[in-house]
Amino acid sequence: MANLGIPRNTIEVLQRHNFTFQKKYGQNFLIDPNVLERVISAAQVTEKDCVLEIGPGIGTMTQLLAERAGSVVAVEIDRNLIPILEETLSPYSNVTIINEDILKLDIRQITEEHGGGGPVKVVANLPYYITTPIVMGLLEGSAPLESITVMVQKEVAERMQAGPGTKEYGALSLAVQYYAQPQVVANVPPNCFIPRPGVGSAVIRLTRYKTPPVEVADEGKLFAMIRASFNQRRKTLANSLGNAPGLKASREEVAKALEEMGLPAMVRGEALTLEQFAELAGRL
Ligand code: SAM
Repeated sequence: MANLGIPRNTIEVLQRHNFTFQKKYGQNFLIDPNVLERVISAAQVTEKDCVLEIGPGIGTMTQLLAERAGSVVAVEIDRNLIPILEETLSPYSNVTIINEDILKLDIRQITEEHGGGGPVKVVANLPYYITTPIVMGLLEGSAPLESITVMVQKEVAERMQAGPGTKEYGALSLAVQYYAQPQVVANVPPNCFIPRPGVGSAVIRLTRYKTPPVEVADEGKLFAMIRASFNQRRKTLANSLGNAPGLKASREEVAKALEEMGLPAMVRGEALTLEQFAELAGRL
């Protein structure tokens, strides 16, 4: 099978099928063999694994995954890509193509049907317009996912990995880090894709925790608090959390809890670690 991950072969397949890119689907296809290798090796795919690929495009990465994994399930929304995938993936008997919107699928059911209930690895060059709903849906859901290795917009990867006190740190960092350990494994420039995206990209691996690193009685409350804390970044925590919707704590109660935790009265959300947010949620 010809290596699709070089410009000449990708263009040949696209022209032969008269394919036109759909901007609304975030279609930027990878055409760099080194980057493809970086993604797949970061995902540590072995023949024991079932891999879920989101948005296979013309099947460039899917072919490599099919060669290394036990099985691959590839979910692609664009029906114009399905005949192309049927052609490029025809040599592989371990690939299932599903023509669906990933946000509408029951991922747990897919993992049960195709992964035998065992852990599944997600590997994808994601459509950037829905990165956060896809990643948070995977992390919050009950499907047995071991890791998520994905290409995302560079700034989004930085926010996922950021720690307290940085300008990238926010609700997304804390939400991701409650469920998984993030590690940016590569930065990828726009010229590694056809067409070139208007932003830089990065590959990030999220290794899911078996249990979250902090214990909270009420996850809903923790995340409501985190969202309220970063809604207006420049506000102090006492101001943003006091009387915030869904929290039922007054400004005074928040100030008292912060004091008991040994935190300055004027502290902002961007200074607190996940552990401190969890403790504060418990106290309020
Ligand atoms: N994996 C290919 C590659 O690396 O060359 C394509 C990656 S491209 C950035 C994103 C892919 O996701 C496109 O094929 C696009 O059609 C598909 N896609 C967009 N929205 C989707 C959705 N909601 N569900 C499933 N696939 C989607």
